[in-house]
Amino acid sequence: MQVVDNVSALDRAKFGPIALVPTMGALHEGHVRLIRQARTLTDAVLVSIFINPLQFENPSDLEKYPRTPEADIEKAAQSGAEVLWRPKYEQVYPETTIALQEVGAIASLYEGATRKGHFQGMLTVVRRLFDLVEPKWAIFGEKDFQQLFLVRRMVKDLKLDIEIVAVPTVRESDGLAISSRNVRLSPDDRQAALVISRALTNASQMESIESMQDALDTTLASESEFKCDYAVIIDEEDFSLAKGDTKSKRALIAGWVNGGRLIDNMSMVGLAR
Ligand code: AMP
Repeated sequence: MQVVDNVSALDRAKFGPIALVPTMGALHEGHVRLIRQARTLTDAVLVSIFINPLQFENPSDLEKYPRTPEADIEKAAQSGAEVLWRPKYEQVYPETTIALQEVGAIASLYEGATRKGHFQGMLTVVRRLFDLVEPKWAIFGEKDFQQLFLVRRMVKDLKLDIEIVAVPTVRESDGLAISSRNVRLSPDDRQAALVISRALTNASQMESIESMQDALDTTLASESEFKCDYAVIIDEEDFSLAKGDTKSKRALIAGWVNGGRLIDNMSMVGLAR
């Protein structure tokens, strides 16, 4: 595996079409799954690590974001990455102005309502990474479902010739969705955080939207250390609230445990129906 800070130095002819796996580092089993998925498409797997200041609305959150550069090199190589790209800030955001990406109304719902500017920052960096790498595929996790939705929509709106590949959320054996931020949870926090996946699983066993919503609310309320931001059932197709005839329903949850933000989601179209 090559570790580079500039993709313009890559021998494109040697690589052929590239599968890009964008990350912010502190690589974990979720990222590993994305890299492995990329590897099923091509040998030319390029993993990027860039902690994008534009998508952090809070400077201390950016400062505290976990960084594990040495372990990242090992994990990326072991998972099958061909290139690990760690761009410098100036390469992603050169002095010539980079226009902020238009985001549309869905970017101000849910994660976007609480984290102002987050999705504009995220889409701006993803578009820059796409411009610089020109991948044939880009791999994203369902863990960040609204992000995945907005990236897909941007690719469609801009008519980019890139296939977005989604990978299901990777969980710990007890159900907690793996996240780089989980290292900040104390054992007690971690225990409290399990209420999220429990609420999703409970809801997924219900028949009607009302009983799904009730399962989310009741389960989340049972954990006093969990402070809920939102817990909703949406239509995956357009992010509107799910209605009786919605086929592709998904529950989204976000909230805080001891000040740390956690998000998760799960399809509500399961074996129960
Ligand atoms: P991040 O480094 O947190 O920005 O995440 C980089 C990519 O990994 C995004 O596409 C995430 O959705 C994906 N990802 C993060 N955690 C998981 C997980 N537990 N399962 C699947 N994908 C994940």
